Amino acid sequence: MTTDFNFELLGTDGTARRGRVHTAHGAINTPAFMPVGTAATVKAMMPESVAETGAEILLGNTYHLMLRPGAERIEKLGGLHKFMNWDKPILTDSGGFQVMSLAQLRKITEEGVRFRSHIDGAYYDLTPESSTEIQRQLDADITMCFDECPALPASKERVNEAMQLSMRWAKRSRDAFVERQGYGQFGIVQGGTEEDLRKESVEKLVDIGFEGYAIGGLAVGEGQELMFQTLDYTTPVMPVDKPRYLMGVGKPDDLVGAVARGVDMFDCVLPSRSGRTAEAWTRRGSVNLRNARHKDDPRPLDEHCTCPCCKSYSRAYLYHLTKTKEILGLMLLTWHNLHYYQELMAGMRTAIEEGTFEKFVVDFHALREQGDIERV
Ligand SMILES: [Zn+2]
Repeated sequence: MTTDFNFELLGTDGTARRGRVHTAHGAINTPAFMPVGTAATVKAMMPESVAETGAEILLGNTYHLMLRPGAERIEKLGGLHKFMNWDKPILTDSGGFQVMSLAQLRKITEEGVRFRSHIDGAYYDLTPESSTEIQRQLDADITMCFDECPALPASKERVNEAMQLSMRWAKRSRDAFVERQGYGQFGIVQGGTEEDLRKESVEKLVDIGFEGYAIGGLAVGEGQELMFQTLDYTTPVMPVDKPRYLMGVGKPDDLVGAVARGVDMFDCVLPSRSGRTAEAWTRRGSVNLRNARHKDDPRPLDEHCTCPCCKSYSRAYLYHLTKTKEILGLMLLTWHNLHYYQELMAGMRTAIEEGTFEKFVVDFHALREQGDIERV
């Protein structure tokens, strides 16, 4: 059975949207959170366990996978889904962002980026065409355009330059995209925190035409208030009938605020990375399991959470695992964090369906303000 790639807008509550993205590897209910599977694995998790948390789509990193094990190798082995044993949808980034943040000696030209691998120092070229081709080899259900994202703060001139280059690269990415049933490509809106540049970027991308639109260049140091302000004027000019994806965001309250502003999809390393630094995210905010106050605490991390970590293990045990640097500690915390993020998304989806999203937001903040259960 083949499916067309499309987006169903199932309902709205204020500017929050409830939708469904259909892809070759199944549907994604939105608002959706995508765990990050950098090197063809969500660190410390079995793919079956990732699916059990409720995740319906994963993000794969083009930069990491092109270096190791190589996109051609993954293609020959049947694509990324088969390679990593994940049969649900996969979105891959373009590699651009990580080239900028990880690679050494990068040089940006009109053609693309030349860089040295952070692994062995070898030279590579990444262009809109090669990035798009690598994502095809990986068999990504959603391919991202190759773009340039300048770190903020930057001058308006610099932000404009990067946006204009990204729009020329978006056209080249689109021309290089091989259309296949159930597969789509997203354009990336750039323009920093400049309203006129964001609007111009949306117009240019819509002229080219994509299956979805991402908002890039945020969560790069501008702070939540500026990020929300940027969304306030960006999402209203984006197409209503296409999914909107806010890249690299974020903390739970970022997600709630962005869903309220009409965003449908998110990705962030935070829940999986925090699991490895002993930080847990709960309905009552973040909890650091390295803190000695958990040493003798027989209670679970969150008594209302149904994840395997909270169902069977105490804070005292998690503290012990963390202190002794046992692998199980980061496995359990990663599971809990991913579970919490997926529960948060599911809660928002239900609230939008029921027309109670505003109340959901009030309750979400009220519970966090009460703080960790220990202090109640
Ligand atoms: Zn839990």
